Formats: sequence, structure tokens, C-alpha cells
Amino acid sequence: MQIREDGSVWPMIVCDWCKTPITDAKDGRVLWREIGRNPLNARCYPVYHTHKRCEDAFVENNKPSITEGVIHDPEFMPEFFPDGCVWPAWLWMSHGLDDDLERLLSTIKFDPGANVEKQ
Ligand SMILES: [Zn+2]
Repeated sequence: MQIREDGSVWPMIVCDWCKTPITDAKDGRVLWREIGRNPLNARCYPVYHTHKRCEDAFVENNKPSITEGVIHDPEFMPEFFPDGCVWPAWLWMSHGLDDDLERLLSTIKFDPGANVEKQ
């Protein structure tokens, strides 16, 4: 959270790579570790946020370790991986921060001009 000079409290998303605020949702990425398809898995993963320019460095420096095991599941993302291949235990997946925020805001009646001061 960010407390501004006028005392108002604003949510703020900080890049998990460079540790600076993501001030434009269109410049943000949401990343999560996709695990193999397991019907018992709740498929609710922790998420990380980066600027677009920071995504590659974040992913490159946070690769799955070989000690975390492997996926040997022909049902796992068959559109990307041929059957029978062995892949790391999880893979980074991502999409735009603006997509996530739109989905979140769609759960409430949101009037952007009602309570938000223009900057
Ligand atoms: Zn960044």
C-alpha cells in the first residue's frame, strides 16, 4: 500500500524483479508457476508481478531446480509439448497485468470516476 501526501491510501503493485512500482497496468506482467494437471490440485498459485522489461530476467533467474523433480505427463500442455517428453516440475506462465485487473474489477460494480481522483 502507498500512503500519499494527502493521507489517502492506494494499492500499489511492486515489480518482483526491480522492486519499483508498476505504475501502468499495460506495462505489467503477472507470472505464476504452472504445475502439471492434477485433478486434486486446487490450481490456485501464488502470483508474481514484473514490468514487461523485467519478465525475462525474473524468469531466467528463477528457473525450476532439477531437484524439484520433473513432469512426465503426456496430458500436460500437449499443445506445447509432445507426448513422452520429460519437463521440469513446473513452468513459468504469464499474461498481462491489465488482463488480471479487468477480471478482478469485473467482480464489482466499478465506476472509475466515482471515488478516484484524477492524477
Ligand atoms: Zn521491474
